[in-house]
Amino acid sequence: AAKREGGNRAVTFDSSLHEAALQKLEIEQDLHQALERGEFEAHYQPLAALPSGEIVGFEALLRWRHPERGLVSPADFVPLAEETGLISPIGAQVLRQALCQVRAWREISGRGLFVSVNVSACQAARPDFPAEIAAALAEAGLPGEALLLEVTESIVAQSVAIGHLEAVRRTGVRIAIDDFGTGYSSLAYLQTLPVDELKIDKMFVSQLGRDTRSSTVTQALIQLAHALSLTVIAEGVEDERQWAELRSLGCDAAQGYWISRPVPVAQALALCGWRVRSDEGEDEAAQVSV
Ligand code: C2E
Ligand code: MG
Ligand code: MG
Ligand code: MG
Repeated sequence: AAKREGGNRAVTFDSSLHEAALQKLEIEQDLHQALERGEFEAHYQPLAALPSGEIVGFEALLRWRHPERGLVSPADFVPLAEETGLISPIGAQVLRQALCQVRAWREISGRGLFVSVNVSACQAARPDFPAEIAAALAEAGLPGEALLLEVTESIVAQSVAIGHLEAVRRTGVRIAIDDFGTGYSSLAYLQTLPVDELKIDKMFVSQLGRDTRSSTVTQALIQLAHALSLTVIAEGVEDERQWAELRSLGCDAAQGYWISRPVPVAQALALCGWRVRSDEGEDEAAQVSV
């Protein structure tokens, strides 16, 4: 703490706060530069349909290939990118990359794969968001069905963003609520939000087979979603037991390390025609080669 002379006031100065502010400014400049230099890339994690085990799509997950720090995970920079508004241009880049990839995978595999892209609420609230999505789809020559947008429950507070999602949804793009069950305590918004799919958070999935209560909750979430004509994706499937339980609960699709970790784009194509087999131990369990 420092004291300032002059007058009788003593101004305390918190140097750790100052440092934090400086560091933030530095990261903000870094993010700007990274955007210009093309240091952002998406990794892709496959989604498998239940019960068939077929890969039906991929989630694009943002990574920052930092020249010194290596591959930086989104948890370390997305919050600041959201605060500074830089998430919008970064997100636009991810969207274009992801659509370009899924077009290639669809062409090569001859299958109707989709790509799922995470969208921050502030990004969806920007006035040009619907036009941006339409332009990106047109540029890639893809129908809206090839794209799934993932938003979190926090979107309920943003009526402008909701309006944009409604507009985007009319073009065939699907909307998913990400990390479902961890945010708002009220379920009322499910009646009003433009939404097609629920992604059940890994918090519930990780306890499947270990804790009967979480099986009950997961089952209830799946039934609720189905009663509302929503598709259910389970996140964070880490073992065969969870996969089998989700299958018996009638979950529509699953995603998780047991199926595959997120992989760099060069490895994703190999997963396109791949299928999860888990016929009660008859076959090999997960056959991921990554
Ligand atoms: P999310 O959208 O819920 O993505 C799922 C996260 O869980 C990913 O972390 C993924 O790598 C991880 N995951 C997948 N399977 C498993 C599993 O079996 N077990 C465990 N423990 N984790 C698993 P990641 O890639 O670090 O992304 C973290 C978050 O960053 C994402 O959570 C999403 O909220 C955000 N994010 C990622 N990409 C973007 C983006 O392009 N834009 C925005 N706005 N946010 C993004
Ligand atoms: Mg997501
Ligand atoms: Mg999620
Ligand atoms: Mg999550």
